[in-house]
Amino acid sequence: MRTLLADHPLVTHKLTLLRAATTDNATFRMLASELVTLLAYEATRDVRVTPVEVSTPVAVATGAMLDEPKPLIVPVLRAGIGMLDGMTRLMPMASVGFVGMVRDEESLVASTYANRLPVDLAGREVFVLDPMLATGGTLVTVISMLLDRGATAVTAICLLAAPEGLAKIDDAFPGENVRVVTGAIDDHLNDKGYIVPGLGDAGDRLFGEI
Ligand code: URA
Repeated sequence: MRTLLADHPLVTHKLTLLRAATTDNATFRMLASELVTLLAYEATRDVRVTPVEVSTPVAVATGAMLDEPKPLIVPVLRAGIGMLDGMTRLMPMASVGFVGMVRDEESLVASTYANRLPVDLAGREVFVLDPMLATGGTLVTVISMLLDRGATAVTAICLLAAPEGLAKIDDAFPGENVRVVTGAIDDHLNDKGYIVPGLGDAGDRLFGEI
């Protein structure tokens, strides 16, 4: 697994506002969306393109366009939905699949409650959206699902990551075809599985407590 820490000053600025306990839900959603667009810019740096010729008003230029099959974006429900808009703004041509995962608050083990993914992902580059890489259990399950369906490369975009979660993903996927792009690597997980200092429960902060 490869890790990219996108510690750009604008990323850190927005992340700092996002962390603040005083930031309300509406502002949190807006900041999360802006942050994802910045992280996605880094995450798509190696996306597959094909050279094309384009006629300008003056002459023919050689450019590049995203290759087929187009990338797939997979937000992990619920909190990943808060990142979808920021990602599709950058890659409107990508298709979108969904995985729903819920974490048992006692055991911290994640289980799947929804799965709407293409059966065949042969040759596809996939971008998974999950704001908080905590224990890594959710992402290990989702990345395995995608690789089992033939995805050639999987990049997880996370606003924040804990060292424990990064280590778990690295153990599960030692190859170069799995990547994590994150805005910050925090200190540790507490005994409730929250990232410290983190930003609290990302789903609640995006959409309110349920
Ligand atoms: N999920 C969250 O929403 N926050 C954390 O700190 C850890 C997991």
